[in-house]
Amino acid sequence: MSTLVFLEHHEGEIVRNSLGVLGKAASLGGEVAGVVAGSGVRDVAAKGGEFGASRVFVADDPALEMPLPQPRVDVLASLVRDHGFETVLFGQSVLAADLASALAARLGAGLNWDLTDVAVEDGRLVGKRPALADSVVVDVGWTATPQLALFRTAAFDPVSTGGSAQLEDVAVSLEDFSTGTVLVEQAHEERSGPSIEDADVIVAGGRGLGNPEAFGMLETLAKELGGAVAATRAVVDAGWYPYPAQVGQTGKTVSPKLYIAVGISGAIQHKVGMQGSGTIVAINKDANAPIFEYSDLGVVGDLNSIVPKLTDLVRQRPS
Ligand SMILES: Cc1cc2nc3c(=O)[nH]c(=O)nc-3n(C[C@H](O)[C@H](O)[C@H](O)COP(=O)(O)OP(=O)(O)OC[C@H]3O[C@@H](n4cnc5c(N)ncnc54)[C@H](O)[C@@H]3O)c2cc1C
Repeated sequence: MSTLVFLEHHEGEIVRNSLGVLGKAASLGGEVAGVVAGSGVRDVAAKGGEFGASRVFVADDPALEMPLPQPRVDVLASLVRDHGFETVLFGQSVLAADLASALAARLGAGLNWDLTDVAVEDGRLVGKRPALADSVVVDVGWTATPQLALFRTAAFDPVSTGGSAQLEDVAVSLEDFSTGTVLVEQAHEERSGPSIEDADVIVAGGRGLGNPEAFGMLETLAKELGGAVAATRAVVDAGWYPYPAQVGQTGKTVSPKLYIAVGISGAIQHKVGMQGSGTIVAINKDANAPIFEYSDLGVVGDLNSIVPKLTDLVRQRPS
């Protein structure tokens, strides 16, 4: 099997999600290559070797500076045609989702979407896809090559193999229609500390907080723990916290080592986004809240008194 993994990069680093997918591809065997597309990205590309790629294609061109999908479709379509890759894998992001679907259309290929795992069974690639509000996992396949797949955020942890990849420059030749879109402005989210996708600790808040100001309490606790703050859809919809922090079926999937759920009932649509967390701690005043059914540790009580006490205890920890 020959596999190509799209290595998305931001601010000079390949994103964690892509490195996780690359490591998974390497674990399946066969030839595994990565592709980095951008401007001034040769140094970025080298990292692919540390996470499982035997070679990394470098499409380095000023026309690829903006994170737009169409020029990248041209690059990946050429690579697949020229090198005969049987499988092309992507980690979920807005860019990767646009790119994967457009590449599938360009190549007339099948794309399996929202996968959480993949395996080789009886010599065939089988995708694992949660269905019915994530209550079951179904096997999905492809009827022809190339086989394209997009994986959920944080489906795999990146594992450094310490290897190195051969870097191969690719000539960038773009279709006229691929250069018709121009990125007018790019804004960066103001944030201090890790993102919820990368954080080892997440402190998540729900409607039980009672008001948007109470998120300040969670931000203080998260800062003491070196973590990030997440939210339920109920509070995001209410405008209490920004949408990128939403965890769940229609938000992000996270898998930190520690997830502290504060004033969250634990609806199935929230659970599916955080059930992969290492240790789940819930603080809720209702002893019958569903969140306690899948928490490792539960504290029944008023979050307004528990969270400040917990924050004080964390501060008193010997460093
Ligand atoms: C198609 C669809 C997609 C959805 N996608 C998502 C999604 O991606 N993510 C998501 O989160 N939801 C999603 N939802 C919504 C989901 O069904 C729930 O409505 C939502 O998760 C509830 O949010 P909550 O836990 O903050 O609020 P609530 O369900 O209102 O729970 C608040 C909790 O706080 C507790 N509480 C109240 N006061 C205190 C206090 N003082 N101290 C301690 N505890 C207190 C209460 O006992 C209660 O358990 C989706 C729903 C649908 C239909």
